[in-house]
Amino acid sequence: MIIVTSVAEARAAISRWRGDGCSIGLVPTMGYFHDGHLELMRASVRQTDKTVVSLFVNPTQFGPEEDLEVYPRDLEGDCAKASQVGVDLVFRPQPNEIYSPGHQTEVSLAGLASGLCADDRPGHFTGVATVVAKLFNIVLPDFAFFGEKDFQQLRIIRQLTEDLNFSIGIVGVPIVREADGLAMSSRNYYLSESERSEVLVLYRALHHIRHKVLEEQVAKADELINQGAVMIKKCVSCTLEYLSIVDEKSLQAVSDIEGKCRVLGAIRVNQRIRLIDNMALYR
Ligand code: AMP
Repeated sequence: MIIVTSVAEARAAISRWRGDGCSIGLVPTMGYFHDGHLELMRASVRQTDKTVVSLFVNPTQFGPEEDLEVYPRDLEGDCAKASQVGVDLVFRPQPNEIYSPGHQTEVSLAGLASGLCADDRPGHFTGVATVVAKLFNIVLPDFAFFGEKDFQQLRIIRQLTEDLNFSIGIVGVPIVREADGLAMSSRNYYLSESERSEVLVLYRALHHIRHKVLEEQVAKADELINQGAVMIKKCVSCTLEYLSIVDEKSLQAVSDIEGKCRVLGAIRVNQRIRLIDNMALYR
């Protein structure tokens, strides 16, 4: 596995592979790999000839009060894990390699990047969309792999790919969970033992809503959101940021659950740690 830090080195290796007729898969990440990240890499290794993983804690997607400085990092461990699952190249640039001092251009979306996570993280999706568009142009992959865990992000990336005419297949990978259901996240690392058991309330609320829809044919979104919110509010250290049932494509809230709908939620634990999760409300 090759590890590079500059755009020029990444492009040189990738264009050699492309010259050999290889297809290229890209897995954008911020590192501190868990099995959710590795599942994206495995999907790329299966589907493409060469897998490129970008490992970049992108400063422009963090707000001023957020956890950029303390975001967990483990470069050596990450490279070992990536190599084990068959990744061919890790691109781990410094911020000044991605954003030159004169950088001015941003990619922002009109509709999909408002509401849900954007309410609590203004500017976040502009940071994400900009860095993903840059990574797409640097790597020029045939396929790029993103987790359904960040469902709004995945939807935004599908839209920007279409809007900006990137010729890239976007592959969404289902959420990888711990044995008890907690969605894997680099931010789970911040949780104390007691917080770890309390945050399961988000998974339980989503699971409750899915069960009501699929097994009891409840279709009123408000009723289910109220029930889920009551469950979450019982957890004293958790604050509910949002719980919403939306149409999967538009991400607009629905009142009657029919077709492809999804429940999305975010909680904050002891004000410090923000966790998100979501579930499909169809089989
Ligand atoms: P991050 O490093 O948190 O920016 O995540 C990099 C990629 O991994 C994103 O596409 C995430 O959606 C995806 N990802 C993170 N956690 C999970 C998970 N538990 N299951 C599936 N994909 C995930």
